[in-house]
This record gives sequence, C-alpha cells and structure tokens, in this order.
Amino acid sequence: MSAGGERTCGTCSLCCTVLRVDDLAKLGGRPCMHQRSEGGCGVYDRRPGICRAYRCAWLNGAFRDGDRPDGLGAVLDFVPRGDSVRLVVRQADPGAFAGSTRLQEIAEETRASMTVEIRDVADVLDPERPFRVLQPDGTELRVEGDRVEVLRAGAVVGRRRKPWPERIVGRVASRVAAWRLSRWPSHEVRARPLSEPRSD
Ligand code: SF4
Ligand code: SF4
Repeated sequence: MSAGGERTCGTCSLCCTVLRVDDLAKLGGRPCMHQRSEGGCGVYDRRPGICRAYRCAWLNGAFRDGDRPDGLGAVLDFVPRGDSVRLVVRQADPGAFAGSTRLQEIAEETRASMTVEIRDVADVLDPERPFRVLQPDGTELRVEGDRVEVLRAGAVVGRRRKPWPERIVGRVASRVAAWRLSRWPSHEVRARPLSEPRSD
C-alpha cells in the first residue's frame, strides 16, 4: 500500500511471469528477462505499453488488501466474454488454487455473481491444456480440448464434447496461435531485449 492507502505493486511482479507480452516475445508462464530478483521491473521507464497499461484486479481494488497476487500465487482479472464478464484466475503453478483456501474462498464468493475460470500457465503451448469453469448455478465444467466434464457438488453428472462451431473456432485459434509463435525468434525463457528491433 502507498502512504495514501492506494494499492501498489510493491515487490510483486507475478504478472511479469504469468502473462504473455508479445512486444518482448515472452510467453505466458515464463519469467520476463527484465524482472528483478528483488521484485519490480528492471526497465521500468522503458517498459512496453502493455506493461504500462496492465493492472490486475487486486491492484484495481478488488478483494482484500492482503490478497496481493504474489501471496495468492495467482493473477486474477475480470475479463469480458461476450456480453458478460468473468473472473479469470491464472495460477503461477498448477497446484496454487488447490493449495490456497483464500483463492478458493475468492472463487466461491465471486461465482455467486459471475463465472470463474481457473487456468494455469504451465504449458501455454498446449491448446488442449485443461481448465475449470465454476458457474453461478453451482455447476463446474472441467474442459480438456474438446471434452467437457460436468460436475455438481464435486460429482461428475455428465460428459460431452464441445459443439462443432466452438470446436472449429478453438482449432482455428490454436493454429493462429501456433503460426504467431512460429514467427517468434525463441520460445525459451529468454525474451527479446527492448533495444533489439522487431523483425516481425
Ligand atoms: S500481479 Fe498485480 S500487483 Fe502484482 S505486479 Fe502485476 S499488476 Fe502489480
Ligand atoms: S518489461 Fe518489466 S513490466 Fe514488462 S513484463 Fe518485463 S519485468 Fe514486467
């Protein structure tokens, strides 16, 4: 917190690991080369526009003061989807949600009014990687590729495939993502230095 009570990132830089930054050819789930070990950004005055603009839900005032993302182990955002908004929880490690009673509490409180999506960033290059969707009616969807498992009160009550239009959109999106990634110079941890001109 700042002296005026406004929330500040402080030593948190979790979004710099969890989120994708195209300007740096940085994949989600990989640390940015400009992250400082003590927290914060090593090129703060020259950071890309997307880094300047980004504010996670906590920094924007959501949840409790003590829920800073580096403590929770996840970056949380309110994301528009169609004509609604959902809370997206991006875990820094796949077990973060399961291991955090506070994250589970936030998800349960929020799902009363909107859908909550829980993802991890362990393998962002895998279009089939699983994620969970907690719906306001108490239903949970566990999605893996085209397959959807439906749960109520923790028990599986149905299995289905995604509808064809959704499958087609998903496959096209995966191919576009793969094409974009193939044009990047590296998929490794190291990102493109800010001084290096972009070739794409
Ligand atoms: S995750 Fe939120 S609090 Fe942490 S550095 Fe990013 S914007 Fe700041
Ligand atoms: S350039 Fe700075 S603000 Fe942007 S992701 Fe890297 S460390 Fe974070």
